[in-house]
Order: sequence, then C-alpha cells, then structure tokens
Amino acid sequence: MNQLPTDGKCQRCHKDTNCTSMSRFNTQMCCSDCLDLEKKHPKYHVAETLELDAIKQGRYNFKGIGLPSGYTKWACVRQTR
Ligand SMILES: [Zn+2]
Repeated sequence: MNQLPTDGKCQRCHKDTNCTSMSRFNTQMCCSDCLDLEKKHPKYHVAETLELDAIKQGRYNFKGIGLPSGYTKWACVRQTR
C-alpha cells in the first residue's frame, strides 16, 4: 500500500517538493515542512512509540495511528504563525 509520490508533491499540503518521507501518523509521503510540523503535535510521541513497538514485534507494515482528529485544523493554525 505504500504509494511513492510520482508527481513530486507532498501528499499532505500538496506543495511541490523533491524531498518526502513517510509521516509517523499515517502512510502519507510528506515534505519536510509537514514532517517538522507534525513533530510538534502533542500526539507525535504516541505515534512514534506505537510505531517502534510495532517494529519490535515484527509488524513492519504498521500504518501508523492515523492523523489525530482535528490535525488539519491544528496544522493550519501553526503554519500561519
Ligand atoms: Zn507538505
């Protein structure tokens, strides 16, 4: 299910980027701006911990905990600062 970007766009903010990696919250390929931003979310450490646990258990296809509810709105407020 991992979809690598073929159009050179971030799957979260849809900006042109040539540098994407997978989000910790889900399987979106995001630009470095979006990834830096999600690290500031209060649930980020939860997503990180659960992902590391899954990997320890051999569940390499762990898809993340999903974007926290209201994430887009939260990100929007952060980005305009
Ligand atoms: Zn982005």
